[in-house]
Amino acid sequence: MVRVRFAPSPTGTLHIGGVRTALYNYLLARQTGGQFILRIEDTDQTRFVPGAEEYIIEALRWVGLVPDEGVGFGGEYGPYRQSDRKAIYHQYAMELLERGHAYYAFDTPEELETKRAEIENFTYNCHTRNGLRNSLALSEAEVKALLEQGVPAVIRLKIEPGQRIVIQDLIRGEVQFQSDLLDDKVLLKADGMPTYHLANIVDDHLMKISHVIRGEEWLSSTAHHVLLYRGLGWEDTMPVFAHLPLILKPVGDGKLSKRDGAKFGFPVFPLSWDSEKEEERAMGFREAGFLPEAVVNFLALLGWHPEDEQEIFSMEQLIQAFSLEKINKGGARFDYEKAKWFNQKYIQSTDNKTLAQLMWPYVKAHEYDVCEEYLEQVAALMKERVTFIQDFVGQGQYLFETVATYDMEALSKKWKSSLAPVFERWIAAYEAAQEGTSIEQEEVFKAFVAEQGVKPGEMLPLLRLALAGTMKGPGVFELAATLGKEETLLRLNNFLKFCLTIETA
Ligand code: GLU
Repeated sequence: MVRVRFAPSPTGTLHIGGVRTALYNYLLARQTGGQFILRIEDTDQTRFVPGAEEYIIEALRWVGLVPDEGVGFGGEYGPYRQSDRKAIYHQYAMELLERGHAYYAFDTPEELETKRAEIENFTYNCHTRNGLRNSLALSEAEVKALLEQGVPAVIRLKIEPGQRIVIQDLIRGEVQFQSDLLDDKVLLKADGMPTYHLANIVDDHLMKISHVIRGEEWLSSTAHHVLLYRGLGWEDTMPVFAHLPLILKPVGDGKLSKRDGAKFGFPVFPLSWDSEKEEERAMGFREAGFLPEAVVNFLALLGWHPEDEQEIFSMEQLIQAFSLEKINKGGARFDYEKAKWFNQKYIQSTDNKTLAQLMWPYVKAHEYDVCEEYLEQVAALMKERVTFIQDFVGQGQYLFETVATYDMEALSKKWKSSLAPVFERWIAAYEAAQEGTSIEQEEVFKAFVAEQGVKPGEMLPLLRLALAGTMKGPGVFELAATLGKEETLLRLNNFLKFCLTIETA
């Protein structure tokens, strides 16, 4: 049975790389009929940020990665929040002590600081621990006394020198570590809280996790994790590891960071994060106007490549096609233009009713008085032209407000006083005609220009300016049909009036 987990720490916004990790875990679970678990790793209380857990859950729901078990979702292996499992970790720390794979250390933070200042690259390990204040170096009586006095003590992993640790990573292949180079990591802190390493291993074991799929930054810790599995006698049921490549900055070296988002003006988080402090605020893909399906498709291909050249994948298709073996070893470069491309494609293939629903928040923000049906027409008219959801309202402002300004450069090129009477007669002809579809309106127009002896190209740009104020946008007659006869007539008249006033000015 495949059981995978997404195990974020609630330390603030969830980086988009975290969403990709969740996605790959989810895809494997769905493909194999397994379970996808959300575990909140909040043992580092100093980094805990209120609201971060809710943010994680909302983000997962938004992209459609709903866990089968976990914080907020129930399940038989709970609790799924590590701070609620303190007693469990304590028990296993004691077991490691008894088995001789862990030891007490009494060194104060100040003592360790002094060591670090004295010795370059000081590491607490098999080479240094005998000269430090721990239960391996001190006598049994001293240790007993210290413990009885309640002197703060941590429990550290005792790493034996001369061991080779080999990991078969599903993405990276064989990865080897030498135990001499590893530090004796703290497992249980003086306040009784476990560190990430102990809690992570205990939980993966007790929650029967079969595959650990996580970011590359955790690869080096995996050696410690293997030793913990060995120490607890759990090596036989150890999960399979798969370490995902980094998401790289759009240009240059290194991991995509929050700063890149601010610098280039794109989101690196799924949802926006609000804060009183300016530096903590961040924009999300949702608020930037992305559809969740587009984000999922974009993220899926950021590190994973399908068998062929297919680029558009629904969640169902991803579930079918996904495989851990087809994840690249090298970092995946974040390409915002590609993300935008996916969003355009997904907007184009989304039905007008859904798009209308998504437009509402922006329509309301502007207090536009329109009905649902009108928004569906706007969707039909603009969906081939927009990149973001708010573009329907932003780029299509003239669909919601009367035209206040005209593109004067275009107007001065296209307007001729000889066209004024023709324009006036067009208003009359338009008014007299039946209010038809855009195609019918175009027929009326064609007949009109033929009869008047003017070229369509002389009149069309003017009509466009009259209705939209700009030369960009949908077809003139489609626009007129959407605006309706009354509004179209009003705009034609306003435009003519405007042109006549600038002529006389
Ligand atoms: N809590 C770790 C994180 O925040 C989880 C790493 C893992 O999946 O083991 O990324």
